[in-house]
Amino acid sequence: MPTAVAGPEIERLIQLLARLPGLGPRSARRAALHLIKKREQLMSPLASAMQVAIDKIVVCKTCGNIDTQNPCTVCIDTRRDQSVLVVVADVSDLWALERAHAINARYHVLGGTLSPLDGVGPQDLSIDALVARAHGEEVKEIILALNATVDGQTTAHYITDMLGGANVKVTRLAHGVPVGGELDYLDEGTLSAAIKQRTLF
Ligand code: ZN
Repeated sequence: MPTAVAGPEIERLIQLLARLPGLGPRSARRAALHLIKKREQLMSPLASAMQVAIDKIVVCKTCGNIDTQNPCTVCIDTRRDQSVLVVVADVSDLWALERAHAINARYHVLGGTLSPLDGVGPQDLSIDALVARAHGEEVKEIILALNATVDGQTTAHYITDMLGGANVKVTRLAHGVPVGGELDYLDEGTLSAAIKQRTLF
């Protein structure tokens, strides 16, 4: 056990910060010290912003996104292509696609991927709601933007089967050479997927 260098309140702050993704005990200590030094400019506003967020955060009942309104900002945006739904595993994937301005469509957050080993089955994911949305009049295409992992692809196959009765085109993300990537550094799986999915130049 390392010796405590500060009172229990500060140690507690450090312990909580250390639970954040990407922060270990050392960087949590550094972050805590930074917050304490900047408690007027940073710590107080951060604390109130967190309190406001706690009070207002809701999960969108339509798509599963996290926002302060339900339906969420994305769902009520009428400038988005209403005929396309992008299926993602987590809210972080939705936010990543939005950050990249990858597509101007609507989303459906599954809340994870199928994983028999971890005991995650179809009933644990928002798949029924997706199938219901796919039967809606407007939806013409479902893009499966899932991880290129075994669980991600198992989930993609399962969803494709479930969407069999809906009149929609089901597509998935391309696999291949990343932008700026050098062939020599790619793993065999990525290289062979890129060759198989080659496109006309
Ligand atoms: Zn939404």
